[in-house]
Amino acid sequence: MSSAPPQPGNHPPNDKPQAKVDESAPVAVFGRMDVPPPELIALPSGSARVEWRRSARARRISLRIDPSDGAIVVTLPPRASRRAGLVLLTHHVDWVSERIAALPRQVAFADGAEVPVAGIPHRIRHRPDARGGAWLADGELHVTGAPEFLPRRVGDFLRAEAKRRLADMVAAKTAAAGVAARRVTVKDTSSRWGSCAPDKSLAFSWRLIFTPDFVQDYVAAHEVAHLRHMNHGPLFWALVEQLTPHRPTAVPWLRKNGAALLRIG
Ligand SMILES: [Zn+2]
Repeated sequence: MSSAPPQPGNHPPNDKPQAKVDESAPVAVFGRMDVPPPELIALPSGSARVEWRRSARARRISLRIDPSDGAIVVTLPPRASRRAGLVLLTHHVDWVSERIAALPRQVAFADGAEVPVAGIPHRIRHRPDARGGAWLADGELHVTGAPEFLPRRVGDFLRAEAKRRLADMVAAKTAAAGVAARRVTVKDTSSRWGSCAPDKSLAFSWRLIFTPDFVQDYVAAHEVAHLRHMNHGPLFWALVEQLTPHRPTAVPWLRKNGAALLRIG
């Protein structure tokens, strides 16, 4: 394929000159905060999805690649046009293509696929004739039932495992810290590994099940420490240190491997 710049898609309303818009009218200002719809653009390596964001605080147009699905996220300041975003994209087409090519491969839950459980690779084994749902044995993840339900069963099993392990860690650490958590839930979040709500509920990303125990231990300690200190001050970090020895290894581990975990399942 040629390395021609990406062609703008068909969006006549945005592309037509809007000569009649009164720049000073509130409606015109509002119009400039419009978020263009997602679109596909052609890159030398194939097509890619562009998702537009508007940020009132952004000073200039920025590009990033969403590691969970490989979409190009273009953030526009209030007055920037979609066209200006596409121009920037065109200038950085090599950078964008390289970033997308460097993303870890997507791993689907399927018979024979390998997924990490607590950091250890486990092969998924479909057991259509067995009973008992899903279980771990001898480095494999066994799943029963009809093949069309396998991805969902694997996901449900891993979510339940994540919740069980993190709830155990939280129980041990809240006891050690002399605090109490209202409840522990697991969620599908891509931006945070854990969170602590003002009502003392802790939530974790279910994808922590993929990470080694020392990473889970650190994230659990981090959120439990927030039950006492709702900030990242020196007292907070002192408590984290009391609750886990793994911060120095877990933080770089998540920085290095976190994006890949978003592409499993
Ligand atoms: Zn925190």
